[in-house]
Amino acid sequence: MSYERENIRQMSGYVSGEQPSADDTIKLNTNENPYPPSPKVDEILKSINIDALRRYPPATANRFRDLAAELHQLSRENVIATRGGDELLRLVITTFVDPGEKIGMTAPTYSLYPVLAQIQACPTVSLPLKDDWSLPDDFATQMNEQNVKLTLLVNPHAPSGSLIPLEQLTQLADELDSLLLLDEAYIDFVDHDYETSRLALAYDNVIILRTLSKGYSLAGLRFGYGLASPSLIEPMMNKTRDSYNLDLISQQIAEAAIEDQAHARTSWQQVIDERERLRNALQAMGFESPMSQTNFLLVTVPKTSPDAFSIYQKLKERHILIRYFDADGLADKLRITVGTPEENQKLEAALSELLS
Ligand SMILES: *Cc1c(COP(=O)(O)O)cnc(C)c1O
Repeated sequence: MSYERENIRQMSGYVSGEQPSADDTIKLNTNENPYPPSPKVDEILKSINIDALRRYPPATANRFRDLAAELHQLSRENVIATRGGDELLRLVITTFVDPGEKIGMTAPTYSLYPVLAQIQACPTVSLPLKDDWSLPDDFATQMNEQNVKLTLLVNPHAPSGSLIPLEQLTQLADELDSLLLLDEAYIDFVDHDYETSRLALAYDNVIILRTLSKGYSLAGLRFGYGLASPSLIEPMMNKTRDSYNLDLISQQIAEAAIEDQAHARTSWQQVIDERERLRNALQAMGFESPMSQTNFLLVTVPKTSPDAFSIYQKLKERHILIRYFDADGLADKLRITVGTPEENQKLEAALSELLS
């Protein structure tokens, strides 16, 4: 007999992006930052005192919380530090949503969301985005009518790169009966002033997710954080979080990285500049490549070219990895992470060969 809960037995689990072992692979498939993390991270790693590992780490990561609070002009009580943004998602669901209650999202969205919903035995309400990737006009109304308890929105959106205007976010927070989690994994790559942290102060139903994985080039570290009103942070901090969710070394590295805003901002600007250059180059080759406010582009392959899946496969044979989604509305598209100029130029050369 199986000891698994029925909902676990029926689900298939999250499939992570390919992580090739070959060093010569150009990896443009999982939206990592192509530039190195802050040199301060290196200093921290070299200065780790192994005797300090004998003790438990700071349980509440207060130093990191204070640094994040200062950065966003909030207070420590508005911040929770988590093992990647992914741990925050799991905490939000287990703290605020009962099994059987509904979790709302868009289609397409981050493919981890339905998996986390299945673990908690929560049905999902998935509303298709419009052709230009914007939200349907009656998004909040539909979520409310379906009694959704938690709405998950990736903004800027993955996999399209589109951004919800600030006024519309405020309107959503006002209109939704549910909790609203804004997943800002890619917010650092927005090319203009766009700060949402005041929503965490003004609304007691808004939770903002941030991560060091993309903007701070630290996907391997597993560090993220949430911003929200103290009434939402407190139960996660004091009740549902693992007692020591963040190890000592990660905390010190994350503190150094978030303190070095100058380094991070330089890499964001490099990614933004290169994103625009790559977008133009792909458009010149016949790909449709709408504006993106992230570190990736979602392109539609030209009608006359091989189909998206074979382009993906042929690039893979040439040791260039990008992402293909076998999903509604995405079958003729490819998601390409913005790499370094050298990496992108190799991609461009391979693509023009494949198209000719
Ligand atoms: C990368 C990502 C996250 C968070 O990832 P972590 O590595 O766990 O911090 C969250 N949402 C989306 C849409 C992402 O792409």
